Amino acid sequence: MSPPVFRFAPSPNGLLHLGHARSALLNFDLAHARGGRFLLRIEDIDASRCRPEYEQAIYEDLGWLGLVWEQPVRRQSEHLALYRDAIARLTQQGLLYPAFESRADIARLVSEKERAGSWPRDPDGAPLYPGHAGQLSGAERERWRRSGAPYALRLDMAAAQARVGDLTWEELGMGPDGETGLVPARPEQWGDVILARKDTPTSYHLSVVIDDALQGVSHVVRGQDLFHATAVHRLLQALLGLPQPLYRHHPLVLDEAGHKLSKSTRATALRDLRAAGMTPSEVRRQVSLAVA
Ligand code: GLU
Repeated sequence: MSPPVFRFAPSPNGLLHLGHARSALLNFDLAHARGGRFLLRIEDIDASRCRPEYEQAIYEDLGWLGLVWEQPVRRQSEHLALYRDAIARLTQQGLLYPAFESRADIARLVSEKERAGSWPRDPDGAPLYPGHAGQLSGAERERWRRSGAPYALRLDMAAAQARVGDLTWEELGMGPDGETGLVPARPEQWGDVILARKDTPTSYHLSVVIDDALQGVSHVVRGQDLFHATAVHRLLQALLGLPQPLYRHHPLVLDEAGHKLSKSTRATALRDLRAAGMTPSEVRRQVSLAVA
């Protein structure tokens, strides 16, 4: 049997904090405890927010923590052609449609819906897509495309679910409400998610499932904030014929007020803790979860 493969997959859009340290250390420790491999992947598809100095800081901070990862590191920005191919396959299956509304259009549509009653929100609290771009005629779509307007490629969630049926995943950790074991995937909670944009041929959801499959990742170990996103990941795996890894979602490190840490709060940035004299073993003690 091949050894298990673990990965830590940060985005270089800010400095790593204690929450990242928990994820990275847990992946690293699990890989070591099981004679497995530990990969580092740089999720840098959002060119407007990712910066080379943050990528450099990731290497330095993880190195300081004592982690060692395989080379070469996979950087998603170097593999856009691969994601474009997957988008082409989903388009051929008739599962994607271009939606041309701006953010302001969407906000207006949502407030209209909310004024008329309630409007559902996704597990992250964002309103579901309220538009009707999925029902535009071919001619109307063509007219929009020719206008050069920016657009998002959205997944027709109902059609996608109809194609693959009910899905589950094996949860070795726990969701925010204690979900564990065989968890039913409910991607419809996210509505018609965006999988690509006119200028970016991919999205977090698409790249993550393609890369996990391509890198042979057997165990996805990450924070509970991504627990519900797993439903979309399972759907994409099923649509694209990719293998499904095992999942382990771990509790987040919270600040004193009980809030999730953010890359913009310097108080828990590994860089600043190090500058303030904290040692790697103190970080480890502060964020440790038992490796089982
Ligand atoms: N790149 C994602 C993040 O920084 C994590 C991806 C994952 O672990 O699936 O939040």
